[in-house]
Formats: sequence, structure tokens, C-alpha cells
Amino acid sequence: MADETNPFFIVQGQLRRAVDNLDLGEGVYNLLKDPMRVIEVAVPVRMDDDRIETFIGYRSQHTDATGPTKGGIRFHPSVSVDEVKGLSMWMTFKTAVMGLPYGGAKGGVICDPQQMSERELEELSRGYIRRLAPMMGPEVDIPAPDVNTSSQIMGWMLDEFDRVRGQHLPGFITGKPLVLGGSEGRNSATGRGVVFTIAAAARRIGLDLKEATAAIQGFGNVGSYTAHYLDQAGTKVVAVEDVRGGAYNPKGLDVPKLLQYVAEHRTVSGFPGSEPIDTKQLFGLDVDILVPAALENQIDEANARLVKAKIIAEAANGPTTPEGDHLLASRGVFIIPDILCNAGGVTVSYFEWVQNTMGYYWPPQEVDRKLRAMMTKAFDTVYKMKQTHQVSMREAAYLVAVHRVAEAAEARGWVHRKRAPEIPSDQLQAMATTMPEAPASAPVANGP
Ligand code: GLU
Repeated sequence: MADETNPFFIVQGQLRRAVDNLDLGEGVYNLLKDPMRVIEVAVPVRMDDDRIETFIGYRSQHTDATGPTKGGIRFHPSVSVDEVKGLSMWMTFKTAVMGLPYGGAKGGVICDPQQMSERELEELSRGYIRRLAPMMGPEVDIPAPDVNTSSQIMGWMLDEFDRVRGQHLPGFITGKPLVLGGSEGRNSATGRGVVFTIAAAARRIGLDLKEATAAIQGFGNVGSYTAHYLDQAGTKVVAVEDVRGGAYNPKGLDVPKLLQYVAEHRTVSGFPGSEPIDTKQLFGLDVDILVPAALENQIDEANARLVKAKIIAEAANGPTTPEGDHLLASRGVFIIPDILCNAGGVTVSYFEWVQNTMGYYWPPQEVDRKLRAMMTKAFDTVYKMKQTHQVSMREAAYLVAVHRVAEAAEARGWVHRKRAPEIPSDQLQAMATTMPEAPASAPVANGP
């Protein structure tokens, strides 16, 4: 993987800039530039043809300064240790920007789930959790769905964890089926949150969503729910694309019919009444809103040059390369950064975990109301930071996030952001003779 597209290096650069802008000092950067724990596992699976295949997986736990680490698990052929490390750091900053009591983590297994049977996938999911169980738990590290992992996979993983521990621990994992303690609104949460942030951005730039057009790259869980909620908001979704192809209709796609079509055909390609479209064409469409909802590094410098949209809503994690980001920012495109834009998923994961802790469950309307309130508040906080410091939305989001994590690290005594200047020993002696006696009850300070 080239350095410019390596998520680990990209997030280190983002951290560096935020630490420098906030003048937090080298200690904070050094503390947060690497994940605190990265685990590699080898998971043997008996395949349907009786062969044993071993899959390599990772779990990166970035920091627990602000709480147990939290983040999804992805199944994908391109998973790598640096990708997982970078994604775990993005999770830290995502939970921090939302003010959730978590640190960040991410897991991944190198596999191609499209080529595996359901039984093979179940065995892989269970094996992965068995390997990691000693390092996980509701107060330690809490997984969730990510690319190519579903609520069914979370169900198998929860069952495996419960078996290993001999206890029912629903708060171990989020995004699980409702019947096992999942939350209402979790499946749709990321897409729902994306559209809340799009609505907030549209208000700021004076765009009426009912008059607006949108294109979405990626049509998995996040892309499809984003299409659904944009359609409900009155926005014309003119193009969508998934790994198998694209569908374009300048008059607007019939989103309910498209969702039905995808449920049957597992792709948007060939949707009746649409023309095919490829990624470059989609990025270059004359639409108001562009939603990258697939993988990292899709909007590089070359693709950024094609963009005509006013708003880019980063539904995926890390969809824009630093070069692409720079170019878009110089052209005044309003980018809703990933750590804010797609934070609806982890926010409802947090609601799920809270409900598991209470053993008391909220109706869908309550989840939705709470999600809207939290997304809008986070958006406003980042926007205010952007205005105050005259920076991009992305930089503003990092300022909010890194400040919070640094504050937690300092409160724990891990770093001293502003160390008192050293006092020469002769002055210290002079002071000792003039200082009043300390009272007997003076508190004793503990060193780090
Ligand atoms: N995988 C999602 C993300 O990247 C959700 C994580 C979670 O719910 O913990 O934000």
C-alpha cells in the first residue's frame, strides 16, 4: 500500500495537525500516534469441501483513555494490519467528536465473504471471537458490524463469546439481532445519521433538500439507507453504484423499487429504467450532494478534479485521500468528514450498549429522537470550531476530538500538557526556607 493511501499514515497526519493547532505538545502526539494493542489471529475453518483453510485477522485497540475501545469488524480481501490500525484511530476520533464514553478499535479478517457459504462464515466468525475473547468484553472492547458483516454475524459472535465466558453478556457486541438485545434503529443508524448531517450542511449553505440531487457510491448497508432517507427528504437520487456496476437516471431513480431490486438481485446493476454508470462518471455528475459510501481512498486527486457537487458526505471511513481533500477544500466544497458524517452507527451502538446495561429497551421513536439530537449537536460543535479557527470541517472535527482525548489522557495522568518550567535547585533551596509549613492534612499528590 502506498504511503499516500495508507490509512494509518493518513490518520497520523491528521492527528499531527490537530495536536500542533491546539498546541498540545509532543507528549499527546506520541501517546496517540500508535494503537495501544494490535492483535493478529489465525483462524482455521473447515471449508465445505473438507479442506482446512486458515484466515488471518486483526483487532486493533487504539486507546482506552475515554472508555472501553469500540469499533466494527470487517470481512474483506483487502484487509491489512495498517488499514485496521488506521481505522481504529478513526474510531477513537469518531467517538470523541460525538462525546461517547469510548475509545476506538477496529477488526478485520482477510477473506472474500462472497465466495463463502453461510456455514463457513459462521465458523470463521466464531473462530475469530474465540481467539480474541480474552482481550474483549463489554467494559474492555466492544465490536460491531462494518464492511460485509451483518447482524447475523454479530449474533454468532455474541453466542461464541457467551459460551467462552459461560455468561450472558449482551453488551459485548452491538449491531446484533433485536431478539438478542439489539437496538431498534441500529441497522439504519449510519445512513440515518449521514442524512441528518447532510440536512445540517444543506441548511448552512442554503440548499433546499427538496430541490437537490444526489449520487451515492457504494450500496451496502450505509449507501442503501442513505438513499432511502434522502429520498424521504425529497432529494432526487440520480445515481448509485456498487461493486458489480452502476445505475443512473437523470430524472431520479425510484428508490423504493431500487431497494426491492437490490434485495432480489444483490446489485443495482441492470435496474430497469436506468443506464449503467462507472465510478469516474458518478463522481463527475452535476449533482448537489455526493456520498462516497464504499471503501477508503475513492476520491483521490484525479477523481476530486471531476467533482461538481457542493456537499460531499463521507459515509465511508477515509473515502478521500489527503490530496483529494486538499483540492476539494481549495474549491470550497463543503465536506462533512467521515468521523462526523458516519458516526450515527456507533452512536446507536452506544444506545444499544446502554440499553443492554439497563436491561430496558427503547421504542424506535426514542432512538431516532436521541440520534437526531446527538448528530445535530455534534455537527453544530464542529461547525462552531470551524468558524472560530477558520479551518475546514475536517480539521475542526479533529480539533474537537483530539482535544477531548487529550483532556482524558491528562486527567488520567498519562500526559502533562503544560509542564511547569524546571526550577533551578538553588532557587528551590531559597524557597524552602521562606515557604510556610504545609498543613498536616495537605493532600499528597500521586506521580504518574
Ligand atoms: N463500523 C461502524 C463505524 O465504522 C460502527 C462501529 C460501531 O458501531 O461500533 O463507525
